[in-house]
Amino acid sequence: MAPWLKLASILTSLSTERFVSDLLSLPQVRCRDPVSLTQRLQIIKNDGHNNLAVLSDFDYTLSKAYASNGEYLWSTLGVFRNFFPEEPRFKLIALYNRCILIENDSNMSYDDKLPFMRQCALEAHKIYFSTGITRNLIRQWSLMAKIQLRDGTKSWSEYLEEKDIPMLIFSAGVTDIIEVIVQKELSKIPKNLRVISNALVYDDLGKSSAFKPPLIHIFNKNVSTIEQEESPLIKSFLNHKNVLLMGDNLADLYMGKQENSQGATLKIGFFNNDFGTVLERYLEGFDIVLIEDETMEIPTLLTKFLVEK
Ligand SMILES: [Mg+2]
Repeated sequence: MAPWLKLASILTSLSTERFVSDLLSLPQVRCRDPVSLTQRLQIIKNDGHNNLAVLSDFDYTLSKAYASNGEYLWSTLGVFRNFFPEEPRFKLIALYNRCILIENDSNMSYDDKLPFMRQCALEAHKIYFSTGITRNLIRQWSLMAKIQLRDGTKSWSEYLEEKDIPMLIFSAGVTDIIEVIVQKELSKIPKNLRVISNALVYDDLGKSSAFKPPLIHIFNKNVSTIEQEESPLIKSFLNHKNVLLMGDNLADLYMGKQENSQGATLKIGFFNNDFGTVLERYLEGFDIVLIEDETMEIPTLLTKFLVEK
């Protein structure tokens, strides 16, 4: 039996201290501060699943970084980079190579990066809409894209739906592409799930020339961006005081509520070991860091520990 499954089978009999100790013995799990992790888990567990919501990034968080054959998979925006005709594709690749340097520059602060990342997103949008994107093309490309959800995402999402735990996917990618992939892999869009990303607007002929505002880019994808939304699911999400936050980028740490707001946030980071990222910085920001783990085993384990009595 896999070690995480063995742990899952005895979850309800464990104290939080023992759970943390067993969790940290799993080979893919790292944690800088087990005492703080234990405290957060205890608060969230005591508050019960009615107070728990999930907030997750999409690219390389819900989706895998690497396929089982070792191939590096695509982000949602990679769909454009891979399927566009040559000229806009080269323009996008050049823009991406320039912007990723700023995104990953450890000498620049979050605030310094913000205007650059906004500009990167706007320049990319200009290129997208120069190509004549249509609803049908987006659907076809999304179905052919080399994007896979992490193993176990379907059963984890079924568990969240069964327990009525709201889940927001927050992404600087494209809503339409994420929804096609979620629909394909989960066989439906679960009723507890909402995608907050950049949604394409189509005309009567199914052609798109704009995204619906607000522009969501990597440094503004934060719950403050959606606080004015009227959607019942978003209102419900915001009323849940405890959050399981998942990301693969240090910028994802800022997706949730302010640290001083009511409730506790448990931050799970997927360390995909790319772009020269430094593990120590992930350990400083995330409560738990998962090393080169292409599955949803640990989030499932954590959710069940927090929910099951
Ligand atoms: Mg990501």
